[in-house]
Amino acid sequence: MNRISNIPFLDLVTPHRELEEQLVSVFRSALGTAGFIGGPMVEEFEKEFAQFCDAPYCVAVGSGTDAVRFSLMAAGIAAGDIVITVPNTFIATTEAISQAGAQPRFVDIDERTYNMDPAMLQEYLETECRINGHTGVLEHRETRQRIAAILPVHLYGQMADMDAILEQAERYGLRVIEDACQAHGAMYFSKRDGRWHKAGSMGFAAAFSFYPGKNLGACGEAGAVTTHDEALAARIRMIRDHGQIKKYYHDMEGYNGRLDAIQAGILRVKLQYLARWNEQRRERASEYQRLFEAADNPVSAPYEPSWSRAVYHLYVVRTQDREGMMAHLKTSGIGTGIHYPIPLHLQKAYAHLTGIPRHFPVSEEVAAEIVSLPMFPQLTAKQQAQVVREVSRFAAGKVVSGPAESKGLGRTA
Ligand SMILES: *Cc1c(COP(=O)(O)O)cnc(C)c1O
Repeated sequence: MNRISNIPFLDLVTPHRELEEQLVSVFRSALGTAGFIGGPMVEEFEKEFAQFCDAPYCVAVGSGTDAVRFSLMAAGIAAGDIVITVPNTFIATTEAISQAGAQPRFVDIDERTYNMDPAMLQEYLETECRINGHTGVLEHRETRQRIAAILPVHLYGQMADMDAILEQAERYGLRVIEDACQAHGAMYFSKRDGRWHKAGSMGFAAAFSFYPGKNLGACGEAGAVTTHDEALAARIRMIRDHGQIKKYYHDMEGYNGRLDAIQAGILRVKLQYLARWNEQRRERASEYQRLFEAADNPVSAPYEPSWSRAVYHLYVVRTQDREGMMAHLKTSGIGTGIHYPIPLHLQKAYAHLTGIPRHFPVSEEVAAEIVSLPMFPQLTAKQQAQVVREVSRFAAGKVVSGPAESKGLGRTA
């Protein structure tokens, strides 16, 4: 009766089974009209998602990668420009920068939030860059490339320190584009106006992904841009649709980056549950926190600053013997992941890039110690207790076999 069962890292089957009738009827109605690309379903979703993000405009696109790329292109990022981001993110962030014609440059992360460290950003802008006396434009001191934008990533569902980032951006006239692909519904308390702001409402534009495993996921590929800039939204509408203003009238070359009507319909159904699912994720996070605090050998749990309301896309802890712990959890039937094992500046894909430092100590230290534990709205307290019990059992085993090695497990945030 009290049988220990497997705990998946992520359960994508249960929520879709629960909504099966509604999801199938989306498909049925699309068959009725054969309106598969764009159309009213997409427009409705755009309206509803803009509203969810407290942003005036939303443009739905084919993926989160498209959303980042099109935002940069529409914001006027040009060939040879520099876009500043962080090394610990999914490669789509920097792919989008490169594919928009710009070059990624990294600043290190804050050790506690795992997000862009505003002090590192400031240091980069002050020491590596200077304002061109003739043009008034911020450029790299040595290469004279224009610094065009800052692209903070709201990693794991927690927003980057936007007040501090926006302050730097304003000082130098830079655009801030949020990579909100993991942060649907996350919030940030701005001291500037004394209120909470949703992810996707603070930057010049923000990119969202609806990859199935994200907090709001399609049943396939999907993404969206939110913005408060009407002209930017209009440009992205063109870019996603072959640069056309109307059918076969092309003002520019664009892309095939539109959203399927079926995916939009599915997203409309699921959007109604997003706030509740995010709340459930927050409850699961508090439960983990409580269990880890009560356990003998806690790992270091995520840190949520008072200005943040995270939506826990991932629940990431740190431990020194990460591989050992993952192996133990696997044997116990518990799924885990690493987000991400290799910081981007050390990826083979960027070995050819000149002009980027090869050492970002915080990102590297963190990448070697992070483990993502099971986290999804349907996770039960009982399953969480089992996860934490196994983590503690592993830690206890380590104490017996080698006290020196177990040190990292006692670390708390
Ligand atoms: C998922 C993700 C993306 C890319 O989204 P896709 O929809 O998979 O193209 C970009 N950035 C981050 C941080 C992501 O997590």
